[in-house]
Amino acid sequence: QVYLDNAATTNLRKEVLEKITEIYEKTYANPSSVHSFGRESRALLENARNRVAKNLNILAKDIIFTSGATESNNLAIRGIVNAKGKDKEIICSSIEHSSILNLVKQLELEGYIVKYIRVNENGIIDLEHLKSLINENTGLITVMAVNNEIGSIQPIEKISDMIKGKNIHFHVDAVQMIGKKELKPYELGIDSMSISFHKLYGPKGVGVLYIKDNIEIKKAFYGGEQERNKRPGTENLHSILLADIALDYAINNMEKESKYVKELMDYLVDNIKDLENIKIHGENRIDNILNISIKGKNIQMLLPILDMRGIYVSGGSACMSGSVSGSYVLKNMGLSEDEVMSSIRISLGIHNTKEEIDYLISVIKGI
Ligand code: PLP
Repeated sequence: QVYLDNAATTNLRKEVLEKITEIYEKTYANPSSVHSFGRESRALLENARNRVAKNLNILAKDIIFTSGATESNNLAIRGIVNAKGKDKEIICSSIEHSSILNLVKQLELEGYIVKYIRVNENGIIDLEHLKSLINENTGLITVMAVNNEIGSIQPIEKISDMIKGKNIHFHVDAVQMIGKKELKPYELGIDSMSISFHKLYGPKGVGVLYIKDNIEIKKAFYGGEQERNKRPGTENLHSILLADIALDYAINNMEKESKYVKELMDYLVDNIKDLENIKIHGENRIDNILNISIKGKNIQMLLPILDMRGIYVSGGSACMSGSVSGSYVLKNMGLSEDEVMSSIRISLGIHNTKEEIDYLISVIKGI
């Protein structure tokens, strides 16, 4: 088994795995219970919140724990636009994750005006186009930090400079960047940001919405007063405690681990870039994501061939792999139909080895 689909999800880090039984056994009281056992859970939850906040370069009071980035994106964007009203326009990059694109499409149906930022052939948003879309009615801009299919790093700082002093909410889906590159939300003028822990060797079904605590958002659900009275329901305490451990290791070992993954990636790219039928897509990429097309090999046959050889990769993003129409990200970058339909995403992680990459290279050469 050679797992090369780390942008879809990762396996747990051993330090997280080791803590599961202990956390599930010992910590089960509801953090909202007032007895001392409940207060112990509350203390553990708040300790985790404080350390997560420190590791994300934000304040603990700006954190809402969620079920993952899909929920964080929905809670932030719907919450903001509902609070601002339909007179305010939404600007969104055309290569956002489906948890944002499908949401804004729904908002369009509900009467909101949504404008989409073009991307260039390397999967980077066109800043001039963005500039032309902004006007006095712009209420929210949402652009991801790193694209999940191509790995292209987006010019977050430049966007932030462009809208400085304007009353525009800036949302960033930072799922594919956290734990790989440092991000300073306050310095970058980011008003809200989504994170998911299963992309950084933590548990699935837990995420963070960072949103400054003075920003008004409309609730998506009604219930108890948990999470600043913005996200009701008993907190997913076990997963939050494990998520905190995963993030802490990711941040404290980021330099070393990113270097390791970059070396594997450079080795892979060096060995396949000159092959006749291979085309690498995107520039200014994060170190763990590579999107290539193999000329004449449709993903419908390519993925099963790789699978039979024990290699697990994706055609586009995992969320899109059921789709036969091909990746909208690649289409928006202007790739031909053939290139779109013959492209795969290879995403590396800290658990991969050079032997695995050698095996992948030999299989690609064989194909
Ligand atoms: N945003 C991006 C860029 C992603 O890659 C993903 C992962 O699929 C998500 C959002 C959704 O995250 P989650 O699986 O936690 O809902």
